[in-house]
Amino acid sequence: ASMREERIEKTKTVCTYCGVGCTFDVWTKDRKVLKVEPQQDSPANGISTCIKGKFGWDYVNSEERLTKPLIRQDDSFVEVEWDEALDYVASRFTEIKKDKGADALGFISSSKATNEESYVMQKLARQVIGTNNVDNCSRYCQSPATKGLFRTVGHGGDSGSIDDIAEAEMVITIGSNTAESHPVLASRIKRSQKLFGQKLYVFDLRKHEMGQRADKFYQPKSGTDLVWLSAVTKYIIDQGWENRAFIEKWVNDFDVYRESLNKFTLEYAEELTGIPQDELKSIAKQIVSVDKVAICWAMGVTQHQLGSDTSTAISNLLLVTGNYMRNGTGAYPLRGHNNVQGCSDFGSMPNFFPGYDKVADDAVRKRYENAWGVEIPAEPGKDNHEMIEAIHAGELHSLYVLGEDTGVVDANINYVRAAFEQLDFFVVQDLFLTKTAQYADVILPAVPSLEKEGTFTNTERRIQRLYKALDPVGDSRPDWEIIMELAGRLDYEWGYDSPSDIMDEAASLAPLFAGVSYGRLTDYNSLQWPVAADGTDTPLLYVEGFPFDDKKARLYPLEFDLRYETDDEYDLHVNNGRVLEHFHEGNMTYKSKAISSKMPNAFIEISPELAEERGVREGAEIKLISHAGEVTGLVHVTDRVSGKEVYLPLNDNGKTAVNFLTDNNVDKDTNTPAYKEIAVRMEVLKTK
Ligand code: SF4
Repeated sequence: ASMREERIEKTKTVCTYCGVGCTFDVWTKDRKVLKVEPQQDSPANGISTCIKGKFGWDYVNSEERLTKPLIRQDDSFVEVEWDEALDYVASRFTEIKKDKGADALGFISSSKATNEESYVMQKLARQVIGTNNVDNCSRYCQSPATKGLFRTVGHGGDSGSIDDIAEAEMVITIGSNTAESHPVLASRIKRSQKLFGQKLYVFDLRKHEMGQRADKFYQPKSGTDLVWLSAVTKYIIDQGWENRAFIEKWVNDFDVYRESLNKFTLEYAEELTGIPQDELKSIAKQIVSVDKVAICWAMGVTQHQLGSDTSTAISNLLLVTGNYMRNGTGAYPLRGHNNVQGCSDFGSMPNFFPGYDKVADDAVRKRYENAWGVEIPAEPGKDNHEMIEAIHAGELHSLYVLGEDTGVVDANINYVRAAFEQLDFFVVQDLFLTKTAQYADVILPAVPSLEKEGTFTNTERRIQRLYKALDPVGDSRPDWEIIMELAGRLDYEWGYDSPSDIMDEAASLAPLFAGVSYGRLTDYNSLQWPVAADGTDTPLLYVEGFPFDDKKARLYPLEFDLRYETDDEYDLHVNNGRVLEHFHEGNMTYKSKAISSKMPNAFIEISPELAEERGVREGAEIKLISHAGEVTGLVHVTDRVSGKEVYLPLNDNGKTAVNFLTDNNVDKDTNTPAYKEIAVRMEVLKTK
């Protein structure tokens, strides 16, 4: 090979842009990403990728990458060496802990970072500082789904693999814009529809691509999914269509649950959801007429005050119809960030150690205390939402945020940014000078996935390795290394040589990952948790019952008692979500020229009816005002939304950032912000 060819390298990596977890070889020459090449043996995606996975990599060479640690001096930042930055952080953490106690410090981990990085972040909080105040951004999205599944079937993860969704005879998606948020997974559904007539039923406020492709598309009123789900389940039981054999063998609490359904009549459901009674009957009939049903859901379900309960209603329906424990069936909360599953799995949660072992459980705590040589508080710590509240209450004085633009993606960001201003000491670790980082006292430059090793866990609980394709830019360093250095300065020498050592430690402490090791994860090999000590993994999560003492799942009675509505003044409902081109708030994808040129700005989607009523046209400039704040943006008139439904993509960190509008309402069980429950009024600035 010539010198020229020799410099071209091929490295296996895992996409960072959604929970599907596509893997591929990335071809690089020096720092240039030449192309991305998926492999036949990529478990989640085969030879497919979407636009983000294929073209979204030039952000790693963005001029705006942070290359040096920064320390605030008055209103600006000065570059310093690592020693100075880390010594400063260590000394401030020590002071605050000494003056105000360990619980005066909080830690927010990143669902974009690796499993190993989530593990060391919670270890820093629990072992080195001595607090359980550690959380991650699954609090903003998936906690309600996890809660709903924990209550009913015992594990919080997807019941099977993406292959199972493809194999189902009927797929129901609820509150999921699958074609744009999980493109490669959506293409599996589209294929199954064509290949063997898989039935696709889509429930959403907005008629996106999957809504258009669906065999049946329904637009229930915002926040009422729990009602139609419960009504359909009740109707199935009333007709005697429930799966008796399955329920008798594998399910508890049927009678109590059945009783609780009394109020969910078809009339009641029609009135609340807007879905006609005949349609509800035909949905029920369709579900029981096939053998394998899989239900996928996303933020349209979880980001409501009843997000956990609605997720529970999904699981109840699956249990009553026997749609668990077999291939092609089950519950599939579609994870948004590439590692939102793994970040929670590996313990960056206030109430759980790695593998969902409870902090409050004495035996579990002992295991970690023995391994780490410290005492760990028995009380669960504060979640993201509670940390922000605690700052306002003067109880939390220091925050360390890793890879999360909290000041853009949390709800009610005026309130969140006001909290940042009150902190005594604020550390942000990121690739760029994000909106959040601008409030920091110290900014530590981290590296993106292409510049480090580690593992991510995708939506199907699949742990996959990424290899280092490029060297870090400037002085930036992988998150795990930075956290380890900091622990060292706080008198805890961890001595990991590589992320593989971290995984070994996690596997030795968390039974869920007992058999996980880098040796078993080479190249395109992967493992779906739980992984037994001998390395046997679990593609289908429930095989012989459910993880309760009696192996039986639980039906969980529900109320529909938290209703959110618009009123005469705040008369429009704002929904929000992703667009195909961008990842989340866009901090990475806006730095990719290939992508941002295709979708430069966010926009406000309104219906043709509303446009006519308010006298605005395509491109008009409007202001939306909620009880919490306001945004301005340009109008896009489309029949994807109808009536007084308005849609705002969340890829904007400027004046159209949706979280100026969201307020402090949360899911009652998990504190996940009710991002989807916003009432606004509209002011027209320019009709165009
Ligand atoms: Fe990446 Fe998701 Fe697209 Fe796959 S579907 S390439 S994981 S963004």
